Amino acid sequence: MPDFVDFVHLHCHSEFSAFDGFQKVDAMAARAKSLNMRAIAITDHGKAAGFIAFHKACKKHGIKPIYGCEFYVSEDLTIKKTDRYHLIVLAKNEIGYKNLIKMCSVAHQNMAYGFPRINFDILKDHKEGLIISTACLGGEFAVNILKNEIQKAREFLVKYKEVFGEDFYLEVMFTGIPEQKLVVKHAIDFSKELGIKIIATNDAHYTERSKAKYQQIKKSISMSKPMKYSDHPEYYIKSYEEMNKIFNKQGEEFLKNTIEVCDKCNVEIKFGQSKLPEFQIPEDPEFTEYENKQIGKTREQNYLRYLTLTRAKEKGLTDDKYLKRIEEELETIRFSGFDRYFLIVQEYTTWGREHGVTRGCARGCFTPGNKVFCDKGLIDISQIEIDDIVISHDSTKNKVINRFEYDIDEEIIAIEVEDGRTIECTLDHEILVSRNSDECWIAAKDLEVGDEIIEVE
Ligand SMILES: [Zn+2]
Ligand SMILES: [Zn+2]
Repeated sequence: MPDFVDFVHLHCHSEFSAFDGFQKVDAMAARAKSLNMRAIAITDHGKAAGFIAFHKACKKHGIKPIYGCEFYVSEDLTIKKTDRYHLIVLAKNEIGYKNLIKMCSVAHQNMAYGFPRINFDILKDHKEGLIISTACLGGEFAVNILKNEIQKAREFLVKYKEVFGEDFYLEVMFTGIPEQKLVVKHAIDFSKELGIKIIATNDAHYTERSKAKYQQIKKSISMSKPMKYSDHPEYYIKSYEEMNKIFNKQGEEFLKNTIEVCDKCNVEIKFGQSKLPEFQIPEDPEFTEYENKQIGKTREQNYLRYLTLTRAKEKGLTDDKYLKRIEEELETIRFSGFDRYFLIVQEYTTWGREHGVTRGCARGCFTPGNKVFCDKGLIDISQIEIDDIVISHDSTKNKVINRFEYDIDEEIIAIEVEDGRTIECTLDHEILVSRNSDECWIAAKDLEVGDEIIEVE
């Protein structure tokens, strides 16, 4: 067991903080490992996008990943011009991880004003399994201190302490901005008064000091502002010694408290498991009666079969050839464990159909007459046989293992081409054309007279 230093970075922006962070998750993990740290956190702005890459990087380098976000918190999410405070949120366990991800989604549903925002109520509703810390100079605590609204800063701390208790931390950092010192001073006072522990962070946006200028370029581009090198190239993943030098003697305690947070955070992301939600089988006496006659299948398998047969009957598809085909497809679905997936998809596509929402056609778009490129050359799709090798538009080759024919009851478009032929296909069949000297795939219904169709010879 290596001797780890008594500090981990709990506030770090990766490249997934799109226009802000300038460090790849792999570089972050490698840097933390090289500094003998047992863990490192990812806290991008309102985003979980980097979690899986970060997970893999940490596993590769043998350190513990801590998943978090730096959220923007506003009181009223319906107002554009309103205060927007930073807040660090970390996941302690699986429930916290789910809550974190859920809040990222909610934050992006509140993007109307350009920032993924949440509010205190959303946070409270998802509080289980979370650790909160007060973030940077953009945090509500620091902003109030700098406005000399000390009482307001205190109220903020009391409010969060009440909800998050021992999992609420005061965060301090010093990256060369004089105002940060005032925040640290008040944090120390309130820490004693309200019993809130302090953690030291460095709001790392790049791995090393030498990378500061690149991050500055990235930021300048994102803000469309002239290039200006930072006077404070300090937002990097500092070593224990560097962090320890920042604060006075007390600093050691702030650093050590990050280990307490680290020990609380134990999220294991499980791969290879279905994450599909439960499917609620509706009350239906006819299904109950049907189900009573079935043996050895799960409820979901029975319900999918029941729905398929009922709808086939409604469409008059009662011939043996259809029933045989239905059984064959259901067996494949059952074998692959996709029953629930199909039930969920049918639920929302049915809803879409009933509410006039455009949805995918859930079938192929070839009709007899369409040409397919295969090892025999360019042939009519109706002539394709099992074991033929078909070549798709991106040059992948696939062996035909089965062929099915569907009846379709939808509009077919006929396209007349220059040499006198007529091509018939469904409206959404994509055709490669040359238009304004650009090659592109266009749905048949969107073709215009004069478009040049490109055929594979
Ligand atoms: Zn911040
Ligand atoms: Zn930050």
